[in-house]
Amino acid sequence: MLASGACERIGEGDSTFTFKTKDVNQRLTLAILNHRTAISLVLGTLLAHQDDAPIDAIGHRIVHGGSYFKDSCVVDDTVIRKIEEIAPLAPLHNYAAASVIESCREVLPQVPSVVCFDTSFHSTIPEVAYRYPLPDDLCESLQLRKYGFHGISHRYVAMTCDQLTEGRCHRLISCHLGNGSSISAIKDGVCVDTTMGFTPLDGLMMGTRCGSIDPAAVTYIIENTDYNAHDIDMIMNKKSGLLAVSGLTNDIRDLIDASEHGDRRSQLALDMFGYDTRKYIGMMWAVMGGVDTLAFTAGAGQNSPDIRRLALAGMEGLGFKIDETLNAQHRDEPWRISADDSEVEIYVIPAGEEYMIALDVKRLLGGD
Ligand code: ADP
Repeated sequence: MLASGACERIGEGDSTFTFKTKDVNQRLTLAILNHRTAISLVLGTLLAHQDDAPIDAIGHRIVHGGSYFKDSCVVDDTVIRKIEEIAPLAPLHNYAAASVIESCREVLPQVPSVVCFDTSFHSTIPEVAYRYPLPDDLCESLQLRKYGFHGISHRYVAMTCDQLTEGRCHRLISCHLGNGSSISAIKDGVCVDTTMGFTPLDGLMMGTRCGSIDPAAVTYIIENTDYNAHDIDMIMNKKSGLLAVSGLTNDIRDLIDASEHGDRRSQLALDMFGYDTRKYIGMMWAVMGGVDTLAFTAGAGQNSPDIRRLALAGMEGLGFKIDETLNAQHRDEPWRISADDSEVEIYVIPAGEEYMIALDVKRLLGGD
C-alpha cells in the first residue's frame, strides 16, 4: 500500500480528510459538501503525491449489485445506469457510489474504473437459501430475496484460507465481526449461505443494528406507536443492537471495559453478541454438514481475543478449540489460533477488502 486515507462526515460541515503515505500524515477538518467535492479532493491529493506512480485504474466498492452483478466489472455507461437502477435497494449507498464513479470519470477521463459489489460473492447461494417464503408477486415486483453483504471481505477470507491451509479448506465459516457483522458458509470457495439478507440489517445483532427479529414486531410497533416506516428503519439501523442493550455504546472495546467494571447491561450486550455469533456459526455448520476451517475478520474479529473466545465458547463438541496463547496475540497478518488437537483450523485474517478490489482491477484490466 502506497497511500491510504478517508473522507468522513461528508455534507456535515465538520468533515474530515485524512491522508497517509510513508512521508505524509495529514488530517484536515473542513467542509466537504458532497461526494463530488470529496473525490476531487482525494484525486487531487493523490495526483500531487503520485511521484513516479501514475493512477492507471480506480477500483470502487459498491454495496448493492442486486441479482444482476454476479462479478466485478469494468465501468461503462450501461454499468452506471444499472447501479442507479438497483439503487432503490440501497438508496443511502448506491446513488452516492454512482456519483463518485461519474466524478472520477470527469476528473480523470482516461482512467478506467472497476466496480466490486458487496453482494456478488453471495450470488451463488442456492434458491433454497435465498428465497423468502413470501408470495411470488411480492418477491418478484420488489426483488425481495436474500442478497447478503460483506462479500468482498468474505471472498478475501476464502482466498486467504485456501492459501494458508494449502487446499485443506473445503468447508469454511467466515466470521466478519465489526460494527456491521455477518457470517458466511463457503464450500470449496463458493458461498452457500450468509446471515445478512435483503438488507445488511439481517442476521447477527450488531453495533447499532438489531439483526434478525420477529418480523411481526415491526407491524406491531407501527400499530401501537406514532413511528412511521422511516422512523422504524432508523431505530433498527442506528439505535439498536449493542448500543440499545448496553445503553452506553456500540463500541465493543468500551463494552468490554464497562463490563469489567461491573456494568450489567454492557455484560448482557456482549453475552447476547456472543450467543448470536455461536448460534449462527452452528447454523453454518449445519448448512455444510460440518466444517474444517473457521476464520475471524474485521474490527472485533481481528482485534479482540475476548470476542473470539466468546464466539466459540462451549463449541468443542463441534470441533472448535482455541489455543489461548495464540488467541492473545495481535498481528497485522493472518495467523492460526486453533489448538493442535482442534478438529477445525481457526484463523484470524485482517480485513482485506481493498486488496481484493485491487486484485479484481488487475484481473479485469490486465497489466501490473
Ligand atoms: P465497520 O464494520 O464499520 O467497517 P470495523 O470492521 O473496523 O468497522 O469494526 C469496528 C468495530 O470493531 C468497533 O466499533 C469495535 O466495536 C470493534 N473493535 C475494534 N478494535 C477492537 C478491539 N481491540 N477490541 C474489541 N473490539 C474492537
